[in-house]
Amino acid sequence: MSLHGDYDSQNIFAKIIRGEVPCYTLYEDDDVLAFLDVFPQSYGHTLVIPKQAAARTILDIDAASLSKVMAVVQKLAGVLVAELAPAGVQVMQFNGAPAGQTVFHIHMHIVPRYEGDALNTHGAGQAEPQQLEALQARLLKRIAS
Ligand code: AMP
Repeated sequence: MSLHGDYDSQNIFAKIIRGEVPCYTLYEDDDVLAFLDVFPQSYGHTLVIPKQAAARTILDIDAASLSKVMAVVQKLAGVLVAELAPAGVQVMQFNGAPAGQTVFHIHMHIVPRYEGDALNTHGAGQAEPQQLEALQARLLKRIAS
């Protein structure tokens, strides 16, 4: 998939938004959904997506929707840092396959970074469901506190 093209309503994140595919939700409101990446590049790797905007990339999304996404990115970055105590936190976003994009519904990555730990390969190495469930429960508890 290139940088330009039509939005495909059958992409995996569109299916997650419609509830056709499950996810490990951390946060949801009318406009934004945040959930754990099932192929995490680090412990706590989280994705934040707009629910209303049928946007493939940062070039397609309206500024108001992007702002709502970024407000949740900031909030959850704080939650991840508070709960998991990483040494750093990376916020990433890719546009077009040559830039590393594999799912063509715009999303922000929040990737906690731990001292001395290299990132796992992007989009490879599925986490164990039990590990994701335990992490989700831990983060939800922190969000509620
Ligand atoms: P990108 O390469 O920036 O398009 O990122 C897509 C991300 O979505 C990758 O980090 C994948 O690991 C992640 N991903 C793909 N399918 C799922 C899924 N069903 N649930 C959660 N994360 C997913």
